[in-house]
Amino acid sequence: MNSRRTFIGKAALFAASALLGKPVYLNRYNSSKALPLPSLKGRKILFTYGGWPGHEPDKFKDYMVPWLESEDATVVSSSNLEPYADADFMKEIDLVIQCITMSSITAEQEQGLLAAIKAGTGMAGWHGGMCDSFRNNPEYQYMTGGQWVAHPGGILDYSVQISQHTDAVTDGLNDFKIKSEQYYMHIDPNVKVLATTKFNGNADSWIDGCVMPVAWKKTYGKGRVFYSALGHSLQHLADTPAALTIIKRGIHWASASKHEATENWVNPVYGL
Ligand SMILES: [Zn+2]
Repeated sequence: MNSRRTFIGKAALFAASALLGKPVYLNRYNSSKALPLPSLKGRKILFTYGGWPGHEPDKFKDYMVPWLESEDATVVSSSNLEPYADADFMKEIDLVIQCITMSSITAEQEQGLLAAIKAGTGMAGWHGGMCDSFRNNPEYQYMTGGQWVAHPGGILDYSVQISQHTDAVTDGLNDFKIKSEQYYMHIDPNVKVLATTKFNGNADSWIDGCVMPVAWKKTYGKGRVFYSALGHSLQHLADTPAALTIIKRGIHWASASKHEATENWVNPVYGL
């Protein structure tokens, strides 16, 4: 009886909506709509920082940790990689954010990090802090989805094109210009590319016209992995609000692997 009443109620609602010419329910599961970004409230985040000082690991820690805490996340920050090797600790972590350039990682630390991500801990980072961290560790690079190899021309003006307008990380953002390093990377084709940039041939003539992913999401085991190549310095991001927005939204997305289902996609970059 109850279910029949509910059905009749819904039918009446639909009929009324047809009269008004408006849909009753927003179709939030429509694949053409961005899924909502998860909240950071209650998330346990490990923020690791260090390596080459030119990428401002301390400054980024001083900016990012208070922001994460303002989003009601619990943050443990570490200037070394020892937490990665602590399996009991890593089991409790929802998300690792790493800002460590041109450093080294022990086999035990690498295994600990990768095991945690395979089991569902998320990973997020930007620029060299995540994708130029450990040049001698291909399994780590298999997890990140890319490795920096060059930034032809150094710091220059270039533009970033948003490739995904129905993904919550880049939803509503327009293409933008930035003055920073333009990363040339070796990239796993099995990532979902969120934004790209096109190289000119001013510095290296043979890459003229090359379209390069700038931000992506992927999975490694059960863990969500997010990366943006933008972020040589905190000031470059402060000068380019869209670039900072992409990183913050990517952090939100990557934090939820243990808490909600992840999209299942295979989206080769050369399918763009
Ligand atoms: Zn840099």
